[in-house]
Amino acid sequence: MSELRHDPVQRRWVIVAVERARRPTDFKKENNVGNNPTVCPFCDGNEDKTPPEITAIRPAYTSPNSSGWSIRVIPNKFPALSVEGDSGRKGLGIFDMMNGIGAHEVIIETPDHNMHMADMPIEHLFEVCKIYRERIKDLHKDTRLRYVLIFKNHGETAGASLAHPHTQLIATPITPRTISTELDSARDHYMAKERCLFCDIMNQELALGERIVLTTERFVVMEPYASRFPFETWILPRVHSHDYAQSSDELIFAFAEVLRETLHRLKVALDDPPFNFVLHTSPNAVTRPGKENYWKTLPHDWHWHLEIIPRLTKVAGFEWGTGFYINPTPPEVAAEYLRSLEQ
Ligand SMILES: [Zn+2]
Ligand SMILES: [Zn+2]
Repeated sequence: MSELRHDPVQRRWVIVAVERARRPTDFKKENNVGNNPTVCPFCDGNEDKTPPEITAIRPAYTSPNSSGWSIRVIPNKFPALSVEGDSGRKGLGIFDMMNGIGAHEVIIETPDHNMHMADMPIEHLFEVCKIYRERIKDLHKDTRLRYVLIFKNHGETAGASLAHPHTQLIATPITPRTISTELDSARDHYMAKERCLFCDIMNQELALGERIVLTTERFVVMEPYASRFPFETWILPRVHSHDYAQSSDELIFAFAEVLRETLHRLKVALDDPPFNFVLHTSPNAVTRPGKENYWKTLPHDWHWHLEIIPRLTKVAGFEWGTGFYINPTPPEVAAEYLRSLEQ
């Protein structure tokens, strides 16, 4: 089992894989086998190369872990965190640590090795987006888990070790720092103004227009004011909503449509760039002893959204050293360009 170690200086947790320790020679560049469908473990027919599936969309006449599926969810073969055990939270002198409990799953989006999410039939992407909802709901039943992070790495420089289209899910016993900073800002704003910070930002951006990429009946796509990266793009539901997992089928379908359109524009504009996306949804709002009111304002102060980051620049020394980002493309310029791609 891995360990979660707390850094009291940076106030963040690090997952340290104590068992699968890599030695210096293990970091030599491996040949990328991800583009060869005969060895790709995510391709149809290679089900025996993955751990047994957690769930799948497949016709009733097929049996689990056989060919013929359209979406498969499997445990990660090399999980960063594992499901068994308790948190084992304890102090070690001035440090804190806990067991690396959690879940690490892979959502294989399609049997088609070369299908880009931007080109998926809408009904299929709708199923993928519904699977995100089902997995979050299911894992929120486990009160040890505080956050379920859905994210996608597309392309080698975005961290995808396999080219086959897939999304990952990591459920952690700690709310990730990026999310908890956002949660704190949203709560502070709500406490001061009794309004949702994200609704306020979105309404101001809609009034201004210069950073809006597109709007649909249910969603707003925009480049954030302080974009960290060129073409950083957020998708937010127009009607205030704190929890992706509580979305109706209708909203999820509208989300699939706007996601596909947004990814398509980024693909056209930037020639199929490597990218990451991360779903920022509600934490698992389990009440803890003595903190009964902790999540009370969450449904009012938090607003779920998807952040998409094309990987066009490399994060280097200055960024690591300061936490500042240098963005060479103003979000207004990126938004204007993406708007111009309207069909
Ligand atoms: Zn494949
Ligand atoms: Zn809101």
